[in-house]
Amino acid sequence: TIGMLCMDKKGDISGACTSSGLSYKMNGRVGDSPIVGSGLFVDNAIGGAVATGMGEAIMKSVGSFLIVELMRQGKSPQDACETALMRIVKNNVNYKEFQVAFIALNKAGEVGSYCIQKGFSYVKYKNGRNSETKSKYFIE
Ligand code: ASP
Repeated sequence: TIGMLCMDKKGDISGACTSSGLSYKMNGRVGDSPIVGSGLFVDNAIGGAVATGMGEAIMKSVGSFLIVELMRQGKSPQDACETALMRIVKNNVNYKEFQVAFIALNKAGEVGSYCIQKGFSYVKYKNGRNSETKSKYFIE
């Protein structure tokens, strides 16, 4: 999955995602990426979130929507990603067997990210420069 969150000079936020889905997926499977609220959600008044990883777990938690709602309640993008991801961990006994990662951006331009397993990173582009950040994670 490729997920993007963007903020323009006026502070308006947009987002996009695209995915080939999971390897060896069943014919006809629909993942989280095309489901608004699961793989992607943006509310220009609050911020946006995108997801990658095990789509079934992301969809069951409506993860990207949850993150934006947590930011609406005052959480930072980082805290919102961690809360949403820990709900997935809590609700999936087999969480060690798959990856989920979230990225979030709020109206102040703050970014957060959290994933289940070590190894996810994302790139922030600002003022003509790219900077890569390794996501915080739950397990090694
Ligand atoms: N989230 C995608 C899906 O479940 C897979 C991925 O992120 O690679 O369809």
